[in-house]
Amino acid sequence: MKKYLERAKEIDVFGQYEVIVTGGGVAGLVAAIASARNKAKTLLIERFGYLGGTATASLMININGFRNQVEPDTLQTVKGIAQEIILELHKINGLGKSPYPQKEYDIEKGELSYSYCIDPEKFKYIALKLVHESGVDILFHTYFSDVIMEGNNLKGIVVENKSGRGAFFSKVFIDATGDGDVAARAGAPFWEAKPSDYALKDTIMYKISGIKDEEFGNCRYGDSSVVWGPGYGWGQNDMWKISKAEIQSRLKVFKHFNRVLKLNPQLIQAGAYLAETPPLIGIRQTRFIEGEYKLTAENAIEGRKFDDVIAISSAPIIHYYGYRRYLEHEGYDIPYRCLIPKAIDNLLISGRCISSEQEPFESHRSMAPVMAVGQAAGTAAALCTIHAVKPREINISLLQKTLINQGQELRKNI
Ligand SMILES: Cc1cc2nc3c(=O)[nH]c(=O)nc-3n(C[C@H](O)[C@H](O)[C@H](O)COP(=O)(O)OP(=O)(O)OC[C@H]3O[C@@H](n4cnc5c(N)ncnc54)[C@H](O)[C@@H]3O)c2cc1C
Repeated sequence: MKKYLERAKEIDVFGQYEVIVTGGGVAGLVAAIASARNKAKTLLIERFGYLGGTATASLMININGFRNQVEPDTLQTVKGIAQEIILELHKINGLGKSPYPQKEYDIEKGELSYSYCIDPEKFKYIALKLVHESGVDILFHTYFSDVIMEGNNLKGIVVENKSGRGAFFSKVFIDATGDGDVAARAGAPFWEAKPSDYALKDTIMYKISGIKDEEFGNCRYGDSSVVWGPGYGWGQNDMWKISKAEIQSRLKVFKHFNRVLKLNPQLIQAGAYLAETPPLIGIRQTRFIEGEYKLTAENAIEGRKFDDVIAISSAPIIHYYGYRRYLEHEGYDIPYRCLIPKAIDNLLISGRCISSEQEPFESHRSMAPVMAVGQAAGTAAALCTIHAVKPREINISLLQKTLINQGQELRKNI
């Protein structure tokens, strides 16, 4: 590619924080809540005008992974803030029945089942309410664009928004962009699936409304249902590739809808219509940031436990083996080291791009474990500011104790 030397210029310093979370998807919003509740002055930066990321901006309204989908499923492996969100949604009638076969647990007793379908508007509301009430400053319509480094230390980030280009400085940063944008710009090593690899394809979800038939499944809420639409490629972290993915999938949406109508003639009688395509194609996987530890397929299959556990995933590996491979145990541990990028200080990774091989990723990418990882990242970042340490120097027992005291399940007594 040809190069152009951009003119160096003075930019405004927009603010100084203790913890800055970039990305307001489920990983980022939970991280921000956890950070603020643990008394850190926290900023959350998000490119859209609402929270939820893939859950709302891509209409992926099925939250999986609170426990194993099949036996052994007696342990609820994700609790904490993720559970609080589900219980808040339940109070305002914001949950629908999951399309996945599973044993139903009694939510009235505070016990969660494997999966829930969410009303995306109610999810946006509850997420915003909890983040706002926790005291986080929220900056919407703002794009992370660059890093300010001092050696290996991430000192600040540069953002772009309606006010122009400016810098934020912070003691600790959390990259919850899903794509590892901050870590990659900071120079952290990462890997991406190659075209020959077995990777999860991107898919456009879309909403059908005006449904009367109770039997029309998928992700159902009210008179609407969200369906998995056309897919196109993967790894859309390139300006042309993502544009092509949007074009190719959106051009096929009505054809796909007509097929759904043909297979479900009751929808035609009810007058069901294609009500909405979301702002962003559902992007399943892009970069994986290399961390101090990389989760392996073996770890997931054997149900490995780690001394530095900060979350548990019990969700199935959905695709890699060519079938939905359920775990034969109650979950495997996600170690704290998967959140620490190699080579960079002052940065934690949260969400789908933590350090992992493809196979375990296809399990812990489910939104319940993603939120558990978010809670750990936010709590760790806040503890770093309180004890003036870097993320890789944290007292792991203190982090685990704090997570357990704040409701998270770690299968440990500390
Ligand atoms: C088609 C599809 C089907 C799926 N099915 C399921 C399912 O059935 N059940 C389940 O539990 N999970 C499912 N998943 C997986 C799950 O939705 C994701 O793994 C999870 O939502 C990822 O959350 P995240 O917060 O890590 O990332 P994201 O949701 O990607 O959030 C990242 C956030 O960062 C923001 N952002 C990104 N870059 C920037 C930037 N440069 N500046 C500012 N903001 C930025 C984005 O706008 C977004 O809000 C599915 C995913 C897809 C795509």
